[in-house]
Amino acid sequence: PSMTRGITVEVPNVTWDDIGGLKGLKKKLQQSVEWPIKHAASFSKLGISPARGVLLYGPPGCSKTTLAKAAANAAQASFFSLSGAEMYSMYVGEGEALLRNTFRRARLSAPSIIFFDEADVVAAKRGGSSSGNVTVGERLLSTLLTEMDGLEEAKGILVLAATNRPHAIDAALMRPGRFDLVLYVPPPDFEARYEILQVHTRPMKIGSDVNLKKIAEDTELFTGAELEGLCREAGIVALREDITASVVCDRHFQTVKDSLKPALTSADID
Ligand code: ATP
Repeated sequence: PSMTRGITVEVPNVTWDDIGGLKGLKKKLQQSVEWPIKHAASFSKLGISPARGVLLYGPPGCSKTTLAKAAANAAQASFFSLSGAEMYSMYVGEGEALLRNTFRRARLSAPSIIFFDEADVVAAKRGGSSSGNVTVGERLLSTLLTEMDGLEEAKGILVLAATNRPHAIDAALMRPGRFDLVLYVPPPDFEARYEILQVHTRPMKIGSDVNLKKIAEDTELFTGAELEGLCREAGIVALREDITASVVCDRHFQTVKDSLKPALTSADID
């Protein structure tokens, strides 16, 4: 991927099949991200305007970023990734310039998807600051709104944003023509955990005694990121035991699982 400070561009190589569970969500993203880019003519023929922005929210490590990348891959779109936190920490004016620059480059390499991670940092609610000064966040937000409103004529550009704190997002971004679609990305249930374990053990050599269904049952509250970590660590435990090991066995998975405590609590599941 090409890099300039704060921005990464690539057509990602993640596919829908690399994401376990979330069937309904994948379908929604196919319709709202992939179709408008691949079948733009069909939309205009029917006189419907596709969503310009999609907000993904939910706990960390549950594949918001991965979903955005898979959508870009499916649509064969350039993927511009921006971090809200990184933009916030830039010098005065630098974050706004980066935003404008990203939208400009996205227009040039359309179809494009612009992805904002930690969007709440940039798009935080405007609260009348007592000093009367316009804050960094407020300037970034107003730049973002201007750029999104300017997408009207631009075809094939979609903004995807991710946050763990949807309530912190300014309501102005939720107006029609901005983030028209708001999707919850939940932590994985049993079926999803089973699929995630299958995805991440696909490239591994695992023993016939490994029962992924049982591991999925025993990993309630684990996020996708934690399950991925579990698979990788099990491999390391196997190597630590025997550097010439040819398979990862159930006991390696069990050792790691017993040492992990999920970061989510049942209060995070609704
Ligand atoms: P954050 O809010 O921390 O940015 P996120 O929700 O964007 O997290 P990702 O960065 O997409 O999460 O996921 C982290 C890692 O966990 C990825 O490398 C991905 O491989 C793995 N992962 C998460 N969910 C899944 C899933 N459903 N299927 C397969 N892998 C997953």
